[in-house]
Amino acid sequence: MRDPRYDILFTPVKIGPVTARNRFFQVPHCNGMGHAMPLAHAAMREVKAEGGWAVVSTEECEIHPTSDLTPYVEARLWDDRDIPALALMCDKVHAHGALAAVELSHNGPTASNLYSREVLIGPSHQPSKYGYPSQARAMTLEDIRAYRRWHKAAALRAKRAGMDIIYVYAAHDLSLPMHFLQRRRNHRSDEYGGSLENRVRLLREVLEDTRDAVGDRCAVALRFATDELLGPEGVELTEAQDIVGLLAELPDLWDVNLAAWYNDSVPSRFAPEGAQESFVSFVKKLTTKPVVGVGRFTSPDTMVSQIRRGVIDLIGAARPSIADPFLPRKIEEGRVDDIRECIGCNICVSGDMTISPIRCTQNPTMGEEWRKGWHPERLPPKRHASRVLVVGGGPAGLEAARALGQRGYEVSLAEARRELGGRVTREARLPGLAEWARVRDWRVGQIGKLANVSVYLDSVLSAQDVLDFGAEHVVLATGCHWRRDGFGRSNGLGIDGLAAHPSGFTLDDLMDGRLPSGNVTVFDDDGFYYASIAADLLHQHGCKVTYATPEDSVAPWSVNTLDYRHIRKRMAKQGIEVQVSHSIAGFDGGVLTLENTWDGTRIEQPCDAIVTVTARLPDDALYQALLAREAEWSDAGVRSVRCIGDAEAPGLIAHAVYAGHRYARELEEPSTGEVAFKRHFHAAHPQDV
Ligand code: ADP
Ligand code: SF4
Repeated sequence: MRDPRYDILFTPVKIGPVTARNRFFQVPHCNGMGHAMPLAHAAMREVKAEGGWAVVSTEECEIHPTSDLTPYVEARLWDDRDIPALALMCDKVHAHGALAAVELSHNGPTASNLYSREVLIGPSHQPSKYGYPSQARAMTLEDIRAYRRWHKAAALRAKRAGMDIIYVYAAHDLSLPMHFLQRRRNHRSDEYGGSLENRVRLLREVLEDTRDAVGDRCAVALRFATDELLGPEGVELTEAQDIVGLLAELPDLWDVNLAAWYNDSVPSRFAPEGAQESFVSFVKKLTTKPVVGVGRFTSPDTMVSQIRRGVIDLIGAARPSIADPFLPRKIEEGRVDDIRECIGCNICVSGDMTISPIRCTQNPTMGEEWRKGWHPERLPPKRHASRVLVVGGGPAGLEAARALGQRGYEVSLAEARRELGGRVTREARLPGLAEWARVRDWRVGQIGKLANVSVYLDSVLSAQDVLDFGAEHVVLATGCHWRRDGFGRSNGLGIDGLAAHPSGFTLDDLMDGRLPSGNVTVFDDDGFYYASIAADLLHQHGCKVTYATPEDSVAPWSVNTLDYRHIRKRMAKQGIEVQVSHSIAGFDGGVLTLENTWDGTRIEQPCDAIVTVTARLPDDALYQALLAREAEWSDAGVRSVRCIGDAEAPGLIAHAVYAGHRYARELEEPSTGEVAFKRHFHAAHPQDV
């Protein structure tokens, strides 16, 4: 069934004492569930194994209370009581013929120890990385011996849990073996500091310890950052080449990438597929061991090219496996068109960052495998032969129509515009967001294969049209629009005179091609990506752009998607002036008055136009009109009317897709009650009662 040119992706790869059945390798990734929600975690990993990944890894796994990552929720192997949680995952992964891998980690000065209250440790005295008001102390030689013991003990526990591959972690600036490599963190004058041989010593010892402890049955993988892009303060490519040369045959597998996380999982706005190639391609030349690398690979042709050109041996993926846990199977079964490609928006990352279960824009079932029993490929068949009318072809409407179609409903999708995709189509035309169109394209492709879903473009429906249509169920996914009046988090009464000002613009204007010129201020009271993209667009259009926000930093929420640093760098490069902690006090079409949030002082500056990014309002007029005519529903044969997505409450594209999916899943199903999902409840361990 599969295209023979992809055969190479399905050849087994020997990794030390174990063999991966193919070349698809789900590298470690955080998920916000970790040790706190082991059943949910295991079910999420199981779906990857079922979807054909040969190796399924955990996220970072804390090995000791001196490496406590609170408030982040990762995996944990502090003592034997942590084994069952990971054994759950191993059993599920093995049931589908995949290998289970664990990324053992001691985060040294990049831990928090907020829960354990242990003193942080590091190669040398230094402040904790994440701004906690504490320092790590320099490890003594006895500390180093203790750390090696903890790592070995954790490796043995991982083996008992059923892990097949045990990682030694020296990447992302997150783990002691890497911290010892870094000149900026390692100022030691003993045998663990100074020369490269000395700085590599701990990494070598831990690799050897791990092999001694578990190497009879488990493979030992080394996750290694080849560059931190920090210059001589950090691990740099030239030194990384020496390190790989020194350790070449010691691990059974090299897993190589860039550090820190924001350089590794770069949003698609700032890096294309395969962007790490020039930083990792040297590794295979220095070792005979298999090499896995990442690059948000979703195209099987790119994957084959990576292998054929000798860049990597195994296709590493975190995000592509989140967006489509069945990616390998779809290639294997000759269904490449069915791959739900990651769009590189990093909403998945925001789960970990906000300490909440993982979610994904493209895959609304991610994180819901256990608690809602949602499977990424299977939906329950419809219960009745009902007809459903979906109004609006944005992400919510498209996903609802697709999933309802998959359930077997007779679905009609009406869209006012001449093209599908709603906000996705519009936003994907903004600078750097082209890949976001995949949200539309995958759904349109799937709908095209469903004979029971009809699409009507150029069809603005009124309440009368809906009632005349005669569908039993109506779902309104009619979207939203940006407010013109300046109302938002900071200006609860709006901004005087802005709504009617001819030089006041919104993102909708920009997306409709109505762009201001001259001196333009983008006012960001939203805090995520929209305003920085507006600034980018206007800069490209030749405007002199100022970015102003009442917040104390630029696009603060974009930290959660790893966009923040890239946004700041791009703005700096473009010469966009940044005014934080300032709100708009007045605008007369030529002069803008900004007011400092903290001391109330005002500044005036020349300004030809303002683009406000503050808040949105649902386009729910059709819903309200139908509610007003509820008495007519039953005569028209209408049993239910629902409003979903941005038309219910404006949010992320991820929220809209989820809303569409949830609507389709729950239609005509028994009510789930007030709490719509399963939860973890903790029972005390027998040893603790
Ligand atoms: P969401 O993110 O919730 O899916 P979008 O704004 O992306 O919302 O999509 C809403 C879509 O609904 C837009 O493409 C819009 O053209 C369409 N739409 C809005 N009102 C109507 C209507 N009365 N009839 C048909 N389509 C509509
Ligand atoms: Fe890709 Fe976005 Fe899904 Fe993450 S949330 S896997 S970046 S589509």
